[in-house]
Amino acid sequence: MAYSYEAPVSQSLFDRASVVTPGGVNSPVRAFRAVGGTPRFMVSGTGPYLTDADGREYVDLVCSWGPMILGHSHPEVIAAVQDAVSRGTSFGTPGEGEVALAEEIVARIEPVEQVRLVSSGTEATMSAIRLARGFTGRAKVVKFAGCYHGHVDALLAAAGSGVATFGLPDTPGVTGATAGDTVVLPYNDLDAVRAAFAAHPGEIACVITEASPGNMGVVPPADGFNAGLKELCAANGALYISDEVMTGFRTSKAGWYGVDGVRPDLMTFGKVMGGGFPAAAFGGRGDVMAHLAPAGPVYQAGTLSGNPVATAAGLAQLRLLDDAAYAKIDAVSAELRSLVGDALTKEGVAHTVSAASNMFSVFFTDRPVRDYEDAKKQDAFRFTAFFHSMLEQGVYLPPSAFESWFVSTAHDERAVERIAAALPAAARAASEATA
Ligand code: PLP
Repeated sequence: MAYSYEAPVSQSLFDRASVVTPGGVNSPVRAFRAVGGTPRFMVSGTGPYLTDADGREYVDLVCSWGPMILGHSHPEVIAAVQDAVSRGTSFGTPGEGEVALAEEIVARIEPVEQVRLVSSGTEATMSAIRLARGFTGRAKVVKFAGCYHGHVDALLAAAGSGVATFGLPDTPGVTGATAGDTVVLPYNDLDAVRAAFAAHPGEIACVITEASPGNMGVVPPADGFNAGLKELCAANGALYISDEVMTGFRTSKAGWYGVDGVRPDLMTFGKVMGGGFPAAAFGGRGDVMAHLAPAGPVYQAGTLSGNPVATAAGLAQLRLLDDAAYAKIDAVSAELRSLVGDALTKEGVAHTVSAASNMFSVFFTDRPVRDYEDAKKQDAFRFTAFFHSMLEQGVYLPPSAFESWFVSTAHDERAVERIAAALPAAARAASEATA
């Protein structure tokens, strides 16, 4: 596909980056491989806008993949960071900021009695699984195809759908032995979970699921799915781990727990709680968390865990996220969903706008999407055309058809108008696209 617009400065940065960094990026999706073209190197962000190295401004619907829920450079978050930085950047000792952030998390999310801070969502899920295995004395982990939990070895397995499939490594470098303890099941299929527990009695340490998945596009849990998982785990002596790295503090004040009220044994958080800095967490039942070192025998640690600058940013962001903030984000999301849907309908493009609270994505199919297999059946080539038209018109979408779109409190009328103005041509491009 040829693009009628260019980004010469980004391209030259990408060329330089490709010499010293594999694929030119520090996280694969940023390379635009799914959509082609030159990844934009961003130099600044303000409110709902990003500016790239070529001086072009975009309305940002990625929001750093979720964290920037107040928009970029929010003055109060920046002030909190500046204040923290002025007192030093890392002490390797306990500090009050991490206590305050932990208290804020515990106050917001009732099932979290204790929480441990880490530096990334990957670390959070990896540690939660280790703790679940240590607590139960069992080895096996159940996960769902299409759910992403970071690049934890044991969770980079996504064998096909069907009944209780043993995980096959999804990437070189993950051994069969590691993935062999992972059971990968189709999402939204409680019968498959029942069958897995029946096939492995007394062996499953935990079931981990995205509270509401956003990593195969947005595919919310079917009614009763999370409650069913919780019940099956409880009946079989396994822990129910809800991964709220993406949904936490975004889909409501109490994340997805605030939406469906299903009480997990352990939960993981990241993204929003770090305010744009590397801060993440896992937490849950006090009796389970008590197994964590130094209180208990399950080891877990981190040089920069609870970093004072990251915790200051996260705390400032969370304190600004009141009911009015969520009402605003929900309203902007609803408006954009209807604008996108209308534009695609007008051009006769088969699509489904799929939402979970204020997270949403567009599948280029009109068949229902309940799991990863369904999501993969969409006309992704139409997304590619849609994406590039939006990019050309100054709207930055996730560069993949399998990612959630994110909005913030900073997405005001002007930003929405700019998106609305870009949609008709993008919808036309999608309708004219060929595989
Ligand atoms: N869990 C979920 C649900 C995620 O969406 C992600 C990242 O996108 C992770 C875990 C991993 O988090 P991180 O990228 O901070 O390691």
